Amino acid sequence: MRTLVTGGCGFIGSHIAEALLMRGDEVIIIDNLSTGRLLNIEHLRSNPNLTFVECDISDHEQIEPWFKNIDWVFHIAALADIVPSIQMPLLYHNSNVNGTISVLEAARKHDVKRFIYAASSSCYGIPDAYPTLESAEIRPQYPYATTKYLGEQYVMNWHYIYELPVTSMRFFNVYGTRSRTSGTYGAVFGVFLAQKLNKKPFTVVGNGTQTRDFTYVSDIANACITAAEHPDAAGEIMNVGSGNTYSINRLVELLGGEVTYIPKRPGEPDCTFADISKIRKLLNWEPKVSFEKGVQKMIDQIDYWREAPLWDQLSIAEATKDWFKYLGK
Ligand code: UDP
Repeated sequence: MRTLVTGGCGFIGSHIAEALLMRGDEVIIIDNLSTGRLLNIEHLRSNPNLTFVECDISDHEQIEPWFKNIDWVFHIAALADIVPSIQMPLLYHNSNVNGTISVLEAARKHDVKRFIYAASSSCYGIPDAYPTLESAEIRPQYPYATTKYLGEQYVMNWHYIYELPVTSMRFFNVYGTRSRTSGTYGAVFGVFLAQKLNKKPFTVVGNGTQTRDFTYVSDIANACITAAEHPDAAGEIMNVGSGNTYSINRLVELLGGEVTYIPKRPGEPDCTFADISKIRKLLNWEPKVSFEKGVQKMIDQIDYWREAPLWDQLSIAEATKDWFKYLGK
Protein backbone atom coordinates (compact mmCIF):
# COMPACT_ATOMS: atom_id res chain seq x y z
CA MET A 1 0.00 0.00 0.00
CA ARG A 2 1.05 3.60 -0.52
CA THR A 3 0.33 5.30 2.78
CA LEU A 4 0.61 8.76 4.26
CA VAL A 5 0.88 9.46 7.98
CA THR A 6 0.40 13.01 9.23
CA GLY A 7 2.17 13.53 12.52
CA GLY A 8 4.41 10.54 11.77
CA CYS A 9 7.24 11.95 13.90
CA GLY A 10 5.05 12.05 16.98
CA PHE A 11 4.40 9.38 19.54
CA ILE A 12 1.42 7.56 17.99
CA GLY A 13 2.20 8.48 14.37
CA SER A 14 5.73 7.06 14.56
CA HIS A 15 4.35 3.73 15.78
CA ILE A 16 1.84 3.62 12.91
CA ALA A 17 4.56 4.49 10.38
CA GLU A 18 6.78 1.77 11.83
CA ALA A 19 4.02 -0.86 11.70
CA LEU A 20 3.26 0.04 8.05
CA LEU A 21 6.93 -0.18 7.06
CA MET A 22 7.16 -3.57 8.77
CA ARG A 23 4.34 -4.78 6.50
CA GLY A 24 6.31 -3.58 3.48
CA ASP A 25 4.07 -0.58 2.76
CA GLU A 26 5.37 2.71 1.42
CA VAL A 27 5.05 5.54 3.93
CA ILE A 28 5.12 9.30 3.47
CA ILE A 29 5.33 11.16 6.76
CA ILE A 30 4.18 14.76 6.91
CA ASP A 31 5.15 16.48 10.15
CA ASN A 32 5.99 20.09 11.05
CA LEU A 33 8.19 18.93 13.96
CA SER A 34 6.40 21.28 16.36
CA THR A 35 6.03 18.54 18.95
CA GLY A 36 7.12 15.53 16.87
CA ARG A 37 10.80 14.66 16.84
CA LEU A 38 13.08 13.21 14.16
CA LEU A 39 14.52 11.01 16.91
CA ASN A 40 11.22 9.09 16.87
CA ILE A 41 11.82 7.89 13.30
CA GLU A 42 15.62 7.71 13.38
CA HIS A 43 15.52 3.89 13.38
CA LEU A 44 13.33 3.97 10.25
CA ARG A 45 15.20 6.55 8.18
CA SER A 46 17.34 4.01 6.27
CA ASN A 47 14.19 2.26 4.98
CA PRO A 48 13.86 3.14 1.27
CA ASN A 49 10.05 2.94 1.58
CA LEU A 50 9.99 5.94 3.91
CA THR A 51 9.77 9.58 2.78
CA PHE A 52 9.80 12.38 5.31
CA VAL A 53 8.27 15.76 4.43
CA GLU A 54 8.66 18.62 6.88
CA CYS A 55 5.50 20.64 6.43
CA ASP A 56 2.54 21.97 8.37
CA ILE A 57 -0.74 20.20 7.58
CA SER A 58 -2.61 23.51 7.42
CA ASP A 59 -0.39 24.57 4.48
CA HIS A 60 -2.79 23.01 2.01
CA GLU A 61 -0.92 23.91 -1.21
CA GLN A 62 2.28 22.35 0.11
CA ILE A 63 0.80 19.09 1.38
CA GLU A 64 -1.73 18.41 -1.38
CA PRO A 65 0.66 17.02 -4.07
CA TRP A 66 1.98 14.40 -1.63
CA PHE A 67 -1.46 12.72 -1.61
CA LYS A 68 -1.17 11.70 -5.27
CA ASN A 69 -1.58 7.90 -5.63
CA ILE A 70 -1.96 7.41 -1.87
CA ASP A 71 -4.13 4.45 -0.81
CA TRP A 72 -4.40 5.02 2.95
CA VAL A 73 -4.16 8.22 4.99
CA PHE A 74 -3.63 8.12 8.76
CA HIS A 75 -4.36 11.60 10.08
CA ILE A 76 -2.63 11.66 13.43
CA ALA A 77 -1.07 15.16 13.45
CA ALA A 78 -2.58 17.35 16.17
CA LEU A 79 -1.71 19.49 19.14
CA ALA A 80 -2.25 17.58 22.36
CA ASP A 81 -2.41 18.50 26.07
CA ILE A 82 -5.05 20.25 28.10
CA VAL A 83 -3.42 23.33 29.64
CA PRO A 84 -1.98 24.89 26.45
CA SER A 85 -5.32 24.28 24.74
CA ILE A 86 -6.98 26.43 27.42
CA GLN A 87 -4.32 29.11 26.99
CA MET A 88 -4.14 29.07 23.17
CA PRO A 89 -7.50 27.90 21.83
CA LEU A 90 -7.00 29.57 18.45
CA LEU A 91 -3.73 27.73 17.87
CA TYR A 92 -5.46 24.46 18.74
CA HIS A 93 -8.37 25.21 16.46
CA ASN A 94 -6.00 25.98 13.58
CA SER A 95 -4.04 22.76 13.98
CA ASN A 96 -6.73 20.32 14.97
CA VAL A 97 -9.72 21.62 13.04
CA ASN A 98 -8.41 23.68 10.10
CA GLY A 99 -5.49 21.25 9.75
CA THR A 100 -7.95 18.37 9.53
CA ILE A 101 -9.99 20.04 6.75
CA SER A 102 -6.78 20.72 4.87
CA VAL A 103 -5.84 17.00 5.05
CA LEU A 104 -9.40 15.90 4.20
CA GLU A 105 -9.45 18.07 1.10
CA ALA A 106 -6.11 16.73 -0.11
CA ALA A 107 -7.36 13.16 0.48
CA ARG A 108 -10.60 13.89 -1.38
CA LYS A 109 -8.86 15.49 -4.32
CA HIS A 110 -6.67 12.42 -4.79
CA ASP A 111 -9.42 9.87 -4.12
CA VAL A 112 -7.62 8.04 -1.34
CA LYS A 113 -9.04 4.60 -0.59
CA ARG A 114 -9.13 4.92 3.21
CA PHE A 115 -8.84 7.78 5.71
CA ILE A 116 -8.22 6.99 9.38
CA TYR A 117 -8.68 9.79 11.92
CA ALA A 118 -7.17 9.85 15.40
CA ALA A 119 -10.10 10.96 17.53
CA SER A 120 -10.07 11.24 21.30
CA SER A 121 -12.01 9.66 24.14
CA SER A 122 -11.87 13.10 25.76
CA CYS A 123 -15.07 13.87 23.79
CA TYR A 124 -17.00 11.89 26.45
CA GLY A 125 -15.88 14.21 29.26
CA ILE A 126 -17.31 12.75 32.44
CA PRO A 127 -19.65 10.09 31.06
CA ASP A 128 -22.72 8.58 32.73
CA ALA A 129 -21.79 4.96 32.11
CA TYR A 130 -18.74 2.67 32.11
CA PRO A 131 -17.62 1.03 29.95
CA THR A 132 -18.52 3.90 27.66
CA LEU A 133 -20.17 3.28 24.31
CA GLU A 134 -19.60 5.28 21.13
CA SER A 135 -23.19 6.48 21.43
CA ALA A 136 -22.55 8.20 24.80
CA GLU A 137 -23.28 11.91 25.01
CA ILE A 138 -20.53 14.24 23.76
CA ARG A 139 -19.28 16.50 26.58
CA PRO A 140 -15.90 18.08 25.82
CA GLN A 141 -14.43 19.71 28.94
CA TYR A 142 -11.65 21.82 27.41
CA PRO A 143 -10.57 23.17 24.00
CA TYR A 144 -8.33 20.20 23.15
CA ALA A 145 -11.32 17.85 23.49
CA THR A 146 -13.54 20.27 21.55
CA THR A 147 -11.10 20.61 18.65
CA LYS A 148 -10.54 16.85 18.35
CA TYR A 149 -14.27 16.33 18.33
CA LEU A 150 -14.82 19.08 15.72
CA GLY A 151 -12.15 17.35 13.61
CA GLU A 152 -14.13 14.15 13.90
CA GLN A 153 -17.30 15.97 12.83
CA TYR A 154 -15.54 17.19 9.68
CA VAL A 155 -14.18 13.73 8.97
CA MET A 156 -17.66 12.18 9.25
CA ASN A 157 -19.08 15.00 7.15
CA TRP A 158 -16.59 14.29 4.38
CA HIS A 159 -17.94 10.75 4.39
CA TYR A 160 -21.52 11.95 4.28
CA ILE A 161 -21.05 14.63 1.63
CA TYR A 162 -18.20 13.36 -0.54
CA GLU A 163 -18.28 9.63 0.30
CA LEU A 164 -14.70 9.71 1.49
CA PRO A 165 -14.16 6.29 3.13
CA VAL A 166 -13.24 7.50 6.60
CA THR A 167 -12.99 5.81 9.99
CA SER A 168 -12.76 7.79 13.21
CA MET A 169 -10.94 5.95 16.00
CA ARG A 170 -11.50 7.30 19.51
CA PHE A 171 -8.28 6.48 21.34
CA PHE A 172 -8.34 5.96 25.11
CA ASN A 173 -5.23 6.97 27.16
CA VAL A 174 -2.54 5.82 24.79
CA TYR A 175 0.82 5.01 26.39
CA GLY A 176 4.04 3.39 25.27
CA THR A 177 7.59 3.99 24.15
CA ARG A 178 8.29 7.40 22.59
CA SER A 179 5.36 9.04 24.37
CA ARG A 180 5.94 12.75 24.16
CA THR A 181 8.38 14.60 26.35
CA SER A 182 7.58 18.14 25.26
CA GLY A 183 7.98 20.94 27.77
CA THR A 184 4.32 21.11 28.77
CA TYR A 185 2.84 19.27 31.73
CA GLY A 186 1.11 16.38 30.04
CA ALA A 187 0.24 12.72 30.16
CA VAL A 188 0.99 10.82 33.34
CA PHE A 189 3.61 8.43 31.92
CA GLY A 190 6.06 11.14 30.87
CA VAL A 191 5.65 12.80 34.27
CA PHE A 192 6.14 9.61 36.29
CA LEU A 193 9.03 8.19 34.23
CA ALA A 194 11.05 11.39 34.57
CA GLN A 195 10.31 11.31 38.33
CA LYS A 196 11.43 7.68 38.51
CA LEU A 197 14.68 8.43 36.65
CA ASN A 198 15.44 11.24 39.07
CA LYS A 199 14.39 9.22 42.12
CA LYS A 200 11.72 11.77 43.00
CA PRO A 201 8.25 10.92 44.31
CA PHE A 202 5.42 10.29 41.88
CA THR A 203 2.92 13.16 41.97
CA VAL A 204 -0.30 11.20 42.38
CA VAL A 205 -3.49 13.15 41.69
CA GLY A 206 -6.17 12.76 44.40
CA ASN A 207 -5.85 9.45 46.19
CA GLY A 208 -4.76 7.52 43.08
CA THR A 209 -7.84 5.31 42.99
CA GLN A 210 -9.04 6.93 39.75
CA THR A 211 -8.64 4.61 36.79
CA ARG A 212 -7.70 4.99 33.14
CA ASP A 213 -8.14 2.73 30.14
CA PHE A 214 -4.41 2.67 29.39
CA THR A 215 -4.03 1.34 25.85
CA TYR A 216 -0.64 0.31 24.54
CA VAL A 217 0.46 2.18 21.43
CA SER A 218 1.19 -0.89 19.28
CA ASP A 219 -2.40 -2.02 19.86
CA ILE A 220 -3.54 1.42 18.68
CA ALA A 221 -1.35 1.20 15.54
CA ASN A 222 -2.69 -2.26 14.86
CA ALA A 223 -6.31 -1.11 15.28
CA CYS A 224 -5.75 1.73 12.78
CA ILE A 225 -4.22 -0.57 10.16
CA THR A 226 -6.94 -3.19 10.69
CA ALA A 227 -9.56 -0.46 10.15
CA ALA A 228 -7.82 0.67 6.95
CA GLU A 229 -7.86 -2.90 5.64
CA HIS A 230 -11.49 -3.55 6.48
CA PRO A 231 -14.21 -2.35 4.08
CA ASP A 232 -16.86 -2.44 6.84
CA ALA A 233 -14.97 0.21 8.83
CA ALA A 234 -15.79 2.97 6.32
CA GLY A 235 -18.12 5.60 7.76
CA GLU A 236 -17.73 4.28 11.31
CA ILE A 237 -16.68 5.75 14.66
CA MET A 238 -14.97 3.28 16.97
CA ASN A 239 -13.58 3.28 20.47
CA VAL A 240 -10.08 1.85 20.80
CA GLY A 241 -9.24 0.75 24.33
CA SER A 242 -7.48 -1.95 26.29
CA GLY A 243 -10.61 -3.77 27.42
CA ASN A 244 -9.91 -2.80 31.03
CA THR A 245 -9.22 0.15 33.33
CA TYR A 246 -6.28 0.54 35.75
CA SER A 247 -5.78 2.72 38.80
CA ILE A 248 -2.95 5.21 39.20
CA ASN A 249 -2.05 3.35 42.38
CA ARG A 250 -1.56 0.21 40.28
CA LEU A 251 0.68 2.16 37.91
CA VAL A 252 2.73 3.39 40.87
CA GLU A 253 3.00 -0.19 42.14
CA LEU A 254 4.33 -1.37 38.75
CA LEU A 255 6.79 1.51 38.45
CA GLY A 256 7.90 1.29 42.08
CA GLY A 257 8.78 4.38 44.11
CA GLU A 258 7.65 6.95 46.66
CA VAL A 259 4.54 9.06 46.17
CA THR A 260 3.35 12.54 46.99
CA TYR A 261 -0.22 13.74 46.49
CA ILE A 262 -1.54 16.66 44.46
CA PRO A 263 -5.10 17.99 44.18
CA LYS A 264 -7.63 16.55 41.81
CA ARG A 265 -8.09 18.68 38.69
CA PRO A 266 -11.54 20.02 37.77
CA GLY A 267 -13.29 18.27 34.91
CA GLU A 268 -11.23 15.11 35.12
CA PRO A 269 -13.13 11.83 35.18
CA ASP A 270 -12.61 9.27 37.94
CA CYS A 271 -12.57 6.61 35.29
CA THR A 272 -12.06 6.17 31.58
CA PHE A 273 -13.10 2.82 30.22
CA ALA A 274 -13.98 2.09 26.60
CA ASP A 275 -16.67 -0.26 25.56
CA ILE A 276 -14.82 -1.98 22.71
CA SER A 277 -17.50 -4.41 21.63
CA LYS A 278 -17.98 -2.53 18.35
CA ILE A 279 -14.38 -2.75 17.14
CA ARG A 280 -14.15 -6.35 18.39
CA LYS A 281 -17.19 -7.35 16.41
CA LEU A 282 -16.69 -5.28 13.28
CA LEU A 283 -12.94 -5.69 12.81
CA ASN A 284 -12.27 -8.78 14.88
CA TRP A 285 -9.61 -6.70 16.62
CA GLU A 286 -8.30 -7.47 20.11
CA PRO A 287 -5.86 -5.54 22.28
CA LYS A 288 -2.79 -7.70 22.85
CA VAL A 289 -0.43 -5.92 25.24
CA SER A 290 -1.29 -6.30 28.93
CA PHE A 291 -0.83 -3.31 31.23
CA GLU A 292 1.99 -5.09 33.07
CA LYS A 293 3.87 -5.84 29.83
CA GLY A 294 3.29 -2.35 28.45
CA VAL A 295 4.61 -0.65 31.58
CA GLN A 296 7.64 -2.97 31.55
CA LYS A 297 8.39 -2.00 27.93
CA MET A 298 8.49 1.64 29.02
CA ILE A 299 10.72 0.94 32.01
CA ASP A 300 13.08 -0.90 29.65
CA GLN A 301 13.40 2.28 27.58
CA ILE A 302 13.34 4.76 30.42
CA ASP A 303 16.40 6.61 29.08
CA TYR A 304 14.13 8.25 26.49
CA TRP A 305 12.75 10.42 29.33
CA ARG A 306 16.18 11.56 30.55
CA GLU A 307 15.75 15.01 29.03
CA ALA A 308 12.05 15.23 29.89
CA PRO A 309 11.02 17.99 32.29
CA LEU A 310 10.96 16.95 35.93
CA TRP A 311 7.73 17.93 37.68
CA ASP A 312 7.03 18.32 41.38
CA GLN A 313 4.06 19.52 43.44
CA LEU A 314 5.01 23.18 43.12
CA SER A 315 5.80 23.28 39.42
CA ILE A 316 2.62 21.30 38.67
CA ALA A 317 0.55 23.76 40.74
CA GLU A 318 2.06 26.60 38.70
CA ALA A 319 1.63 24.84 35.34
CA THR A 320 -2.00 23.91 36.00
CA LYS A 321 -3.11 27.32 37.34
CA ASP A 322 -5.25 28.05 34.28
CA TRP A 323 -6.81 24.61 34.53
CA PHE A 324 -8.12 25.39 38.00
CA LYS A 325 -8.91 28.99 37.07
CA TYR A 326 -11.09 28.25 34.04
CA LEU A 327 -12.45 24.79 34.73
CA GLY A 328 -12.75 24.88 38.50
CA LYS A 329 -15.96 26.88 38.58
N1 UDP B 1 -2.04 11.77 37.01
C1 UDP B 1 -1.37 11.72 38.21
N2 UDP B 1 -0.27 12.51 38.37
C2 UDP B 1 0.19 13.33 37.40
C3 UDP B 1 -0.50 13.38 36.16
C4 UDP B 1 -1.62 12.59 36.01
O1 UDP B 1 -1.75 10.99 39.12
O2 UDP B 1 1.19 14.05 37.64
C5 UDP B 1 -3.24 10.93 36.83
C6 UDP B 1 -4.50 11.71 36.48
O3 UDP B 1 -5.23 12.06 37.64
C7 UDP B 1 -5.29 10.71 35.64
C8 UDP B 1 -4.22 9.81 35.02
O4 UDP B 1 -3.02 10.07 35.74
O5 UDP B 1 -6.09 9.91 36.47
C9 UDP B 1 -4.00 10.09 33.55
O6 UDP B 1 -3.74 11.45 33.40
P1 UDP B 1 -3.38 12.03 31.99
O7 UDP B 1 -3.22 13.51 32.14
O8 UDP B 1 -2.28 11.23 31.41
O9 UDP B 1 -4.67 11.67 31.12
P2 UDP B 1 -6.21 12.11 31.28
O10 UDP B 1 -6.46 12.58 32.68
O11 UDP B 1 -6.43 13.17 30.27
O12 UDP B 1 -6.99 10.86 31.01
